[in-house]
Amino acid sequence: MQIQNYINGRFSDPLNGQFLDNTDPARGKVYGRIPASGAEDCDLAYEAAKAAFPAWSMMPATERSAILMRIVEGIEARHEELAQAESTDSGKPLWLTRSVDIMRAAANIRFFAEAILHFSAESHAIPGQAINYTLRQPIGVVGCISPWNLPLYLFTWKIAPALAAGNTVVAKPSEITPATAYLFSQICSEAGLPPGVLNVVHGLGGNIGKAIVSHPGIKAVSFTGGTATGAEIARIAAPMFKKLSLELGGKNPNLVFADCDLEKAVETSVRGAFTNQGQICLCGSRIFIEESLYPRFRDAFVEKVKQLKTGDPSDPDNFMGAVVSKAHLEKVESYIRLAREEGGTVLCGGERAVVGGEFSEGYFLQPTVIEGLSAYCRTNTEEIFGPVVTLTPFKTEDEALEFANATPYGLAAMLWTQDVSRTQRVAEKIQAGIVWVNCWMLRDLRTPFGGVKQSGVGREGGWEALRFFTEAKNVCIKYA
Ligand code: NAD
Repeated sequence: MQIQNYINGRFSDPLNGQFLDNTDPARGKVYGRIPASGAEDCDLAYEAAKAAFPAWSMMPATERSAILMRIVEGIEARHEELAQAESTDSGKPLWLTRSVDIMRAAANIRFFAEAILHFSAESHAIPGQAINYTLRQPIGVVGCISPWNLPLYLFTWKIAPALAAGNTVVAKPSEITPATAYLFSQICSEAGLPPGVLNVVHGLGGNIGKAIVSHPGIKAVSFTGGTATGAEIARIAAPMFKKLSLELGGKNPNLVFADCDLEKAVETSVRGAFTNQGQICLCGSRIFIEESLYPRFRDAFVEKVKQLKTGDPSDPDNFMGAVVSKAHLEKVESYIRLAREEGGTVLCGGERAVVGGEFSEGYFLQPTVIEGLSAYCRTNTEEIFGPVVTLTPFKTEDEALEFANATPYGLAAMLWTQDVSRTQRVAEKIQAGIVWVNCWMLRDLRTPFGGVKQSGVGREGGWEALRFFTEAKNVCIKYA
């Protein structure tokens, strides 16, 4: 696949004429190339977005909404092609890209196309004296930067509210998984999105990503990715007084109390640990289990994990495909070595998964379960972002909370109990932006989404996203 930038409604190569290899992780082979764009491509994209802003921002919301709905139809019409492309590009199973990634990309755009029709602003009366009303105006040209783990899903999660609110966009997908962003730009073009409203530039984070963040005309940046990258972006953008939304890393706890529905807790905890090869920022990678339940939970959990199949992403029998890249495979393996050094026992997995034939060079790792580690060791506090989960017993609710909060992250948490009072107590004290009780990844796009501590700043989803992508202006009119 030969990928091009999408700038001002046209497809083009980068101005420097340079390209990067794009690798199929399940086969470990280069299968295409992508633009290695630089600051000069960002300038072009910015100029196109700036020129498109007045007309797009003044267009009635109903018209913007109608164009976004045509993009939804385009995604739905090319669902299978997008699902295949996402699977090849990222190594994730085709059943997952079909049932989650691409459906959710369409849902993101539909959601904000509808939400903008209902978005309103406040008014505050001072009786007998004045009326204040708030204008929520689009910001201008905004930047959207997304990661590789949920490529089209997260790309559209940012672009949809930005466009719906009347901004124009310079967007950059991950250089590791650029394919569906390229197909998406074709869909936008076919749907009649006016030139310059969305510009998609491809390339390395340190080049084109940095150019977006440091461009003086780009007034806001919505970023999802690693915590270290988020810190680097904040260092550049904060002194320029840009609006920033940072959705960063996680190391999510999963607390299992003895009064839980064991079968459901085991089944969902396995899914919550290994879906997408554990490469979802919301995966529960630290499972803390009440001591009295520990042996039963561990045995049932390991038994289920051993049944998970890993291999050809297009085979529906395989729960797991390949991890996203060789570098990432090696990073995850280094954490399995570290866990052993820190005194952990590998209960299952721990090795590469051997897959034959055309997949013999692919980046496959067995789902790995480790016990016997302190809640405070590096394995249990640093983000691994792969198919590796630890099991640790706890004695009391207070200890469970202490373990859960013992990382610099605070994105999501899972809680398994039938006790309503405990649910309320723990949910209040746990340091996380999202708490799932007796479930995982049950998403309602209206809810605030984001993390605390080093998991990020700001919230996405629902009105939060539309508020991020608008500036509030208060107008106070004194009565005559
Ligand atoms: P990453 O930080 O390496 O890259 C994310 C994006 O930022 C990519 O498009 C990359 O090219 C770009 N980038 C890199 N350096 C940049 C720079 N200096 N300036 C501007 N852009 C730059 O992250 P990744 O490895 O692609 O993704 C994995 C990480 O994302 C994990 O830490 C995961 O937890 C996190 N994540 C968080 C959420 C969330 O909602 N909180 C969701 C998904 C993934």
